[in-house]
Amino acid sequence: MYRFLIVLFFISFSYSQNRCGSDEYRDLLTKKGLFVTQEKANQNIIRTGQYNIPVVFHVIYNNDQQNIPDSQIFSQLDVLNQDYNAQNTDFVNVPSEFEDVAGDVGIHFCLAEFDPNGIPSTGITRTQTDEVSFSMSGDKMKVSIEGGVDPWDTERYLNIWVCNLNGSLLGFSTYPGADPLLDGVVIDYEYLGVLINSPFPYNLGRTATHELGHFFGLEHTFYAGCSDWDGCDDTPPIATSTFGCPDFPQESCNSVISMTMNFMDYTNDACMCMFTLCQADIMLGTLTTQRAILLENSFCEYNNINDFLHQKNLVKIIDLLGRDTNKKGFNIEIYDDGSVEKKYIIE
Ligand SMILES: [Zn+2]
Repeated sequence: MYRFLIVLFFISFSYSQNRCGSDEYRDLLTKKGLFVTQEKANQNIIRTGQYNIPVVFHVIYNNDQQNIPDSQIFSQLDVLNQDYNAQNTDFVNVPSEFEDVAGDVGIHFCLAEFDPNGIPSTGITRTQTDEVSFSMSGDKMKVSIEGGVDPWDTERYLNIWVCNLNGSLLGFSTYPGADPLLDGVVIDYEYLGVLINSPFPYNLGRTATHELGHFFGLEHTFYAGCSDWDGCDDTPPIATSTFGCPDFPQESCNSVISMTMNFMDYTNDACMCMFTLCQADIMLGTLTTQRAILLENSFCEYNNINDFLHQKNLVKIIDLLGRDTNKKGFNIEIYDDGSVEKKYIIE
């Protein structure tokens, strides 16, 4: 037991960032009577067409730095659309041992075209606040009169709040079954999207990839340790969460090879690259049952930054290199009528 505690202390000392608060948040909501455990989703999904989900990002800022640019949000959307369609460039890093179980979720995310009142929207809200930072337990970021922003109808929109979270927490999500007024994902502004200025190694947008896994019903791969109660047989049991960027292979739980590169573990952004078939089925099962109303509202206008620029009459894109996880970023220059309007270089 003491040895375990010492190891825990070492881990928390070595990795001061708190990767994910979702399990703790579920416990908090349960104690408040604001979470009801759901039956696990049916995993026998017959896929039909494309699954489009309208997303609204609520940027809540106390200073200019926290008022992140559109480019950062688009880079996040891009990461999500790659990771949830097995199109991430680092998908090739899936070890051959796990190639057969690597899953393509098949969910597409886009910015909401209309707000809940039917008024055309960019899918991004921006709100100045007097709150210097927000705590996970307080929920103030989700309440307008508390200095945050009320969610858009959480049955019809995926709400992602972006704000300054207290302490070292990167983000957290609700699991299916949370109070509708609190349903959604919260990400610290420093960890949303691809950003070289964000503290390495969580700067490639994988915090949101991970948190949305919870939103669609996934547990951590290390949930319940070697008992392997994460709901998926194709994620090997693993005793505890993995930090950093471990060499492959690692072993855990009686010499089982660990899937440390799963999005639902805690490794560095650059060192996670896959969901499994079972995880993909759980997420689609959740989406097509408990979260099915999201699919009835798929007014998707801005699929990517090119769409956005055309809508905004920004006529010329000089350079759009895209994301490269090894080079860590975007390199975008935007020209409007031949002159530089905005220049985002994240490299
Ligand atoms: Zn998590």
